[in-house]
Amino acid sequence: MTTIRLHNTKSRKKEDFVPIDPQNVRMYVCGPTVYDRAHLGNARPVLVFDILYRLLRHVYGEKSVTYVRNFTDVDDKINARAAATGRPIRDITDETIGWYHDDMDSLGAMRPDQEPRATEWIGAMITMIEDLIAKGHAYEKEGHVLFRVRSYENYGALSGRSVDDMIAGARVEVAPFKEDPMDFVLWKPSDADTPGWDSPWGYGRPGWHIECSAMSYELLGASFDIHGGGNDLQFPHHENEIAQSCCAHPEGGFANYWLHNEMLQVEGKKMSKSLGNFFTVRDLLDQGIPGEVVRLVMLGTHYGKPMDWTDKKRAEAEQTLRNWRNLTADVDVGEVDAELVDTLADDLNTAGAIARLYVLAKGDAATFKASARFMGFLTDELGEWAAGVDLTAYADKLAAVRAAAMETKDFSAVDALKKALMDAGVEVRMSKAGVELLPGAGFDAAKLEGL
Ligand code: AMP
Ligand code: ZN
Repeated sequence: MTTIRLHNTKSRKKEDFVPIDPQNVRMYVCGPTVYDRAHLGNARPVLVFDILYRLLRHVYGEKSVTYVRNFTDVDDKINARAAATGRPIRDITDETIGWYHDDMDSLGAMRPDQEPRATEWIGAMITMIEDLIAKGHAYEKEGHVLFRVRSYENYGALSGRSVDDMIAGARVEVAPFKEDPMDFVLWKPSDADTPGWDSPWGYGRPGWHIECSAMSYELLGASFDIHGGGNDLQFPHHENEIAQSCCAHPEGGFANYWLHNEMLQVEGKKMSKSLGNFFTVRDLLDQGIPGEVVRLVMLGTHYGKPMDWTDKKRAEAEQTLRNWRNLTADVDVGEVDAELVDTLADDLNTAGAIARLYVLAKGDAATFKASARFMGFLTDELGEWAAGVDLTAYADKLAAVRAAAMETKDFSAVDALKKALMDAGVEVRMSKAGVELLPGAGFDAAKLEGL
């Protein structure tokens, strides 16, 4: 059996992955807060953990892997969006979840086995909070329940920092109801205009961190294998999840392997709204960039490195996939290449696996197709963009215009047509033998109309 090796944030080392139960490999990934379209950065963990999910299913069997990713559908950003638009919260979260599914499906990401919504697990959160209070790890003050960080010895072990260092480095909120500035909210009061649930501490709503602890416990148990998310979540979110889960369930170890993806940048700069380089997955799809192209670009960088989105990479990926699709159009699917699987098994070396695909593209087409599909490329679902590009009529026209120009020695019409084709992203190859047209990077069939 293939040995998967993963860089574990907890040990800061690459380790052999040994599941608790190979018949039931369990993974939890922190999902989105649903008030707006997912930006391209949000797609990075989706694609990284999609590859890990595929790899685990390949190695342990499809029925032996459970992947859970939550939807945070109770959050102050959602409340603010509802207040600003006058729309009911549930409308906003339902719509956003629908968009998220559409957009991530377009990138060829498999849906997790379970996608719990926080609002459907409030009872489990209340139970866990009561347990934490009973065990002395949490306290109630002024309708709030707070986690007593100093009561958990190992706090900070994931990021390898002491509590005092974290206080110095983070902007921790000091509030009169906190015993200690590091303590964080498990439950907070809601007023009549804010969503809330009845609880032993009055009408209120959960803090963000408790949802992942409660839902992972309910769906995966007190000990499971892999916990993932972006590295922006390491502190405080993941430190707090560990503290809650290990204190409520000291019998379990919570997650054995922690994987964190690095952040996405755009043209060398961090993607952010203030820099104006912020865009959503939908923006790219609406520009006619195929989801499969986004997938190839995103997986071209190892998850542990910052990833730079550039238009140059986008154009190259589009060209590559067009070639690959042409190569495999009428080819049967063979067996997945073992070297490619081994490459991915080495801490999800997606860049290496894509390099391997370039090599395989020159060999047996059936193996190539199977291997590309294993990574979520060249599937039927993602293929529409590359289908049905027949440029014969335009090639014939260009040949005729050129023949006429040979007579008159006026080549302006040839140049004009050639330019229009190139503007539509067509690669023009003219030789004595004839005219060849190929859809190139950025090919846009709409621009051919009227030529
Ligand atoms: P959020 O909805 O902001 O909680 O984020 C959902 C997921 O996207 C989390 O796993 C984040 O770590 C991840 N994420 C957010 N921004 C970026 C980014 N710029 N690059 C990579 N991952 C990100
Ligand atoms: Zn989480």
